[in-house]
Amino acid sequence: MSKNAFITKEQAEAICKEYPTPFHIYSEDGIRTVIRNLKKAFSWNKGYREYFAVKACPNPFLIKMMQEEDCGVDCSSYTELMLAESLGFSGKEIMFSSNATPAEDFKYARKLDAIVNLDDFSHIDFLAENGGIPEEICLRYNPGGFFSVGNSIMGNPGDAKYGMTPEQMVEGIKKLMKMGAKRFGIHAFLASNMIEKDYYPTLAAQLFREAVRLNKETGAEISFVNLSGGIGIPYKPEDEPADIFYIGAGVEKAYNEIIVPSPIKSLDIKTELGRYITGPYGMLITRVLHQKNTFKQYIGTDACAANLMRPAMYGAYHHIVVLGKENEPCTKTYDVTGGLCENNDKFAIDRNLPEIEIGDLLAILDSGAHGYAMGYNYNGKLRSAELLLKTDGSVQMIRRAETPKDYFATFDFSDIIKVK
Ligand SMILES: *Cc1c(COP(=O)(O)O)cnc(C)c1O
Repeated sequence: MSKNAFITKEQAEAICKEYPTPFHIYSEDGIRTVIRNLKKAFSWNKGYREYFAVKACPNPFLIKMMQEEDCGVDCSSYTELMLAESLGFSGKEIMFSSNATPAEDFKYARKLDAIVNLDDFSHIDFLAENGGIPEEICLRYNPGGFFSVGNSIMGNPGDAKYGMTPEQMVEGIKKLMKMGAKRFGIHAFLASNMIEKDYYPTLAAQLFREAVRLNKETGAEISFVNLSGGIGIPYKPEDEPADIFYIGAGVEKAYNEIIVPSPIKSLDIKTELGRYITGPYGMLITRVLHQKNTFKQYIGTDACAANLMRPAMYGAYHHIVVLGKENEPCTKTYDVTGGLCENNDKFAIDRNLPEIEIGDLLAILDSGAHGYAMGYNYNGKLRSAELLLKTDGSVQMIRRAETPKDYFATFDFSDIIKVK
């Protein structure tokens, strides 16, 4: 499949007159449409709800849109809970899936009456002391070993820091019941960025069987299964996008085979997708500042890994479109770089692209999840603005760009430095 930017060069140049590069821009239409289809795909389950994984793209304007589409939020830290509270989320609209959790975070989650997703057996006593045990609570499951779909290994839970062992799940539920908990959810996140279409159905079947086992061994009411995040997106042109209706039907089939005939009979499905919701509907727009020819040909842009860390951190592929040259042949091979003093600050290595000139605008695609969110200030680089392309075609700034004042703000306790 060919991959395209959701704005043209003309649109981008018009936006640049008001908002200088680099910036991330998101598509309202893309995000609303993907949520509506997700809800349709799981509409067979009455209690279904998506809790957007806030960490993937923590922008209140975008999360407000998701709230309008009836999503909850999945938070993992104090400030993410603050964001949720300020947007008016409360109670069962908030999932709190944290690990190595500070006491204040648990207290805050309990104050909001969020659904707490416990990562560890030892957190039971810790939560009891810091906020108290609620009537409904979720436990994070780690089956150990390897996670396979068909004959392919997809994840390595045995090597993951998350969740409780099968034995701890049983002991945990028994202990929590004694402390007053009445209804239980189970959660697992066993593989990430899965475009394999049977990932969710396979995970669901495993969690449904675990629900049946836990119900049998403890007598506890299992009220929901949380499939967490992990549905992937087609970063590469040759990747197949996830067919959410196939996935929804696959989970339904496992549900009908495992839950319906069991003593549990029915439970709610919950998801905490992040990447799938915003990933493809955001992109980083950057301008070419320099060209450098040494042992290789380099394109130097005004963005860097501080704006989009995934290529530097994971060697992740992000497709690059030279705006206005969408239909030109890729006759050149470039490394596309940012300006950090780090040789891994490359958005692309040996990428075949059309001939690039200084001043060209590049769209680095699929930056909508774990993009801006993973930004940082290394080398004194400032975080960019975030913009929203609205369904009516207008553009709204949904976060301003940082200024040097923001960078120096944490010295405001002293007069060691004066920034005008
Ligand atoms: C990161 C995360 C998610 C979202 O993952 P995606 O890959 O963005 O879908 C969901 N749940 C938990 C607990 C997470 O840590």
